[in-house]
Amino acid sequence: MRKTALALLFAALLTAAVTPDGKRWWSYVEFLASDRLEGRNTGSEGHRKAAEYVATEFERDGLKAAGERGYIQPLKFKTLRLEESQSSLALIRDGTEQKLTLGEDAIIGTRVDPQPSVKAGLVFVGYGLRVPEIHYDDFAGLATRGKIAVYMAGAPAGLSSALAAHYQTAGQRWEALKNAGMIGAISIANPKHMDIPWPRIANNRFQMTMQLAAPGLDETAGEAIAIAWNPAHAEGLLAGTGHTLDQIVDLAEAGKPLPRFPLAASLSATTSVKRGEVESQNIVAIREGSDPALKNEYVAMSAHIDHLGIGQPIHGDSIFNGAMDNASGVAAALEIAAHMKEAQVKTRRSILFVIVTGEEKGLLGSRYFSVNPTVPAKSIVADVNTDMFLPLYPLELLTCFGLDESTVGEDVRAVARQMGIEVQPDPEPKRNVFIRSDQYNFIRRGIPSVMVAFGYRKGSTEEATVAKWLAERYHAPSDDLNQPVDKAAAGQFVVLVEKLIERIADADSRPAWKQESFFRRYAQ
Ligand SMILES: [Zn+2]
Repeated sequence: MRKTALALLFAALLTAAVTPDGKRWWSYVEFLASDRLEGRNTGSEGHRKAAEYVATEFERDGLKAAGERGYIQPLKFKTLRLEESQSSLALIRDGTEQKLTLGEDAIIGTRVDPQPSVKAGLVFVGYGLRVPEIHYDDFAGLATRGKIAVYMAGAPAGLSSALAAHYQTAGQRWEALKNAGMIGAISIANPKHMDIPWPRIANNRFQMTMQLAAPGLDETAGEAIAIAWNPAHAEGLLAGTGHTLDQIVDLAEAGKPLPRFPLAASLSATTSVKRGEVESQNIVAIREGSDPALKNEYVAMSAHIDHLGIGQPIHGDSIFNGAMDNASGVAAALEIAAHMKEAQVKTRRSILFVIVTGEEKGLLGSRYFSVNPTVPAKSIVADVNTDMFLPLYPLELLTCFGLDESTVGEDVRAVARQMGIEVQPDPEPKRNVFIRSDQYNFIRRGIPSVMVAFGYRKGSTEEATVAKWLAERYHAPSDDLNQPVDKAAAGQFVVLVEKLIERIADADSRPAWKQESFFRRYAQ
């Protein structure tokens, strides 16, 4: 068809009119975070509706279905819920049993499938890490066989954030414990680096936990018990050892080595778990590339769609809407798909939109996709993930997790520079964000990946804004539609992500890990 001058002008006007300003992005958030989707819990009806909505939008945007059932990739989960009234924890010291209050003193986790009855001695193992790369071993020289590890979350000073992140994953952690002959773990959060205050952690303990039902994907198989201890109640645990948590925290904050010692008490645990099964959905779609050869390669954009569903009410609200976590990221993907259609953007490589479930249950949807990808894993050249990018103030600084690990970081720098936005690496590696969202499962398949979010500088008002948001709204019902959001800044962020994806898709060569990157090992 021959284009007339008028048609060209009209196309130009149309393109100008659809420059993302955050309004349509917000309309997607409004649907996904509405009360009627009931917090999009993995396996729930609300999640299913959200998945259907995304699939419908992708279809409207002219994307090709790339799931297993149309746009949907169905996956099955085993569910576990602790029956707390039939479970108990006690410390035993000199033959006397001291009963603990579940939820107040400690929480028995069900991410690890607990054995019905566990009795074992306890050993404080510092950070509970073994890092061969720097010849670091918290277990060396201790009598650990058959014992339960007690450790403080975090990593020793001098450990790169990538290594620190990697070795603190549940799978790597259990690997280290198993090698030391240990049977379970008690973790104590460093009170100086807690995202969520203890009462809210305790409030969330009634959440059903899930594991992928497909065989071979349980990375903590064999672990007898995993407990989270309230740092404010650590004195009871450490009594009789000559050590206090305050002293240990001081050492950690000063970057000094932590002590390692056997505890005076041993632990007795009885657990009862109710089990079930649910099905949930990943949603996968392709915007086909224009280059006959390169279109068989894919630039993935990922975001998780699940959140926490309905839980114990806080201030009378029981729906965990997850507007920022992570309706915002899914909405970014939808906005990019819609805008690419309107602006008739052509890219040489194809774009793969991967919207995943089960993130809040332990990155399970992305894990499943990475093991069962619907396009060949080797054809995915990069993943750009967004999870809770927090548009709470103007976008002047971008944080890029994984910035210095691969050439994708250079692409991030280039598109940000064009937009007059500065870029920084993870300012708080201790929070382990790099392994706490879905990009990690792409990384484990050797795929260079980044996650991008709004940045802030240490000591700035923006940092205080984020800290306040985390304390008040993160994983709380108030992460809903009634919160101040800078929609124009969100629109700008979405433009940046789109430009990033397009730049990677159009480049002559595919991204590569940096020679010195720890994560390059997965690409070998
Ligand atoms: Zn979350």
